[in-house]
Amino acid sequence: MDKTTRLKVALQKSGRLTDNSLDLLVRCGLKYSRGKDQLMCYGENMPLDILFVRDDDIPDLVQQDVCDLGIVGLNVIEEKRLAFEARGVTPLFEQIMLLDFGKCRLSIAVPDGVRYDGPQSLRGKRIATTYPHILGRFLRQHDVEAEVVTLSGAVEIAPRLGRADFICDLVSTGSTLVANHLWEAQTILESQAAIIRTPVPVSTEKQDWIHRLGLRIDGVQQVKESKYIMLHAPRARLAEIRKLLPGTEAPTIVPLEGANDKVAVHAVCRENVFWETLEGLKAAGASSILVLPVEKMLA
Ligand code: ATP
Ligand code: ZN
Repeated sequence: MDKTTRLKVALQKSGRLTDNSLDLLVRCGLKYSRGKDQLMCYGENMPLDILFVRDDDIPDLVQQDVCDLGIVGLNVIEEKRLAFEARGVTPLFEQIMLLDFGKCRLSIAVPDGVRYDGPQSLRGKRIATTYPHILGRFLRQHDVEAEVVTLSGAVEIAPRLGRADFICDLVSTGSTLVANHLWEAQTILESQAAIIRTPVPVSTEKQDWIHRLGLRIDGVQQVKESKYIMLHAPRARLAEIRKLLPGTEAPTIVPLEGANDKVAVHAVCRENVFWETLEGLKAAGASSILVLPVEKMLA
C-alpha cells in the first residue's frame, strides 16, 4: 500500500509531450507551484504532485511504484512492456486512458532509391532503431531474420553513416525523413500519448482522485471539439434542421414567445461546427444562429 495520500504523476521533463501533459492537468483544474529544483510541481488545490523525468523512465517509475500515474507515448509503453517480458518480469503498469496528443507512428524507412516490397525486403539486412523489442516482434511475426542495430538516438543518420541499411523510427510529418533522404515504407505501430497507472492497489483517497481525474480528462477531451449551438427554426423544417446538426444527441426545443411557427433549438455538438454547416442550416430555414465554445463538460 502507498505511504501517502498524494498522487504522484510522472510527466516528460522537456520534450514533445511536456506542454500538452501539463496543459491537460491544468484544464482538469490543477493549480501548482514549481519546486526549486524544477524536478517537481506540487498541486495546491488537489492532492497531486508531478515528477518531471525523461519519457523513457516513466514506465519504470510506475513499475517501481514511485509514481502512481504517468503520461507517456504508446511507443514507449509497448517497448518497455516487451522489454520487461523478455526479461521474465511482469510489467507493473496498465494503460488506462488514451490522450488526444503525441500522435505519431513507428515506421520502417528506406533510403531514397532503394526498393521496399514488404517485410521480406528486410531479410538479412541491418535495421537501426531505438525500439528493438517492437521491431523484433514485427520481424518475428513476419518470419524475417534481420540484424537489429539498437541506437539511443540519431537513428535517421545511421544509413548515411553506413551503420544500417534501413531504419525503424518515429514519424509524424515525415519531414525529418525527407531531410535525411529516406522514405517511409511501412508503419509498424500507431502511437499517441496515454495514461498508465500502477496495478498495485492504492489508498481509497488516491483511488478516488484517479477516478475523478479520469472523468475530468474525458470532459476536457470532449469539449475541445464541442460547440454549443443555438438557432431559431421553422417548426415545419425541424426534422431537416436536426439532421444537419453535427454530433448532437437530444437538442432542447423551446417555444418562441409570439411566434407559433418557430422554435428555438439549443444543442451541444460534439464535433466542430464549420461554416458549411451554418450555411446548410440557413438554407434549411434556420435564423439567428449562434455557435458558442463549451468551457467544461461532465457527462
Ligand atoms: P527525453 O529526453 O524525454 O527522452 P525524447 O527525445 O525521447 O525525450 P521526444 O522527441 O520529446 O522524446 O518525444 C517524446 C514522445 O513524443 C515520443 O516518445 C512519442 O510518443 C511522441 N512523438 C510525437 N511525434 C513524434 C515525432 N515526430 N518524433 C518523435 N516522437 C514523437
Ligand atoms: Zn526519450
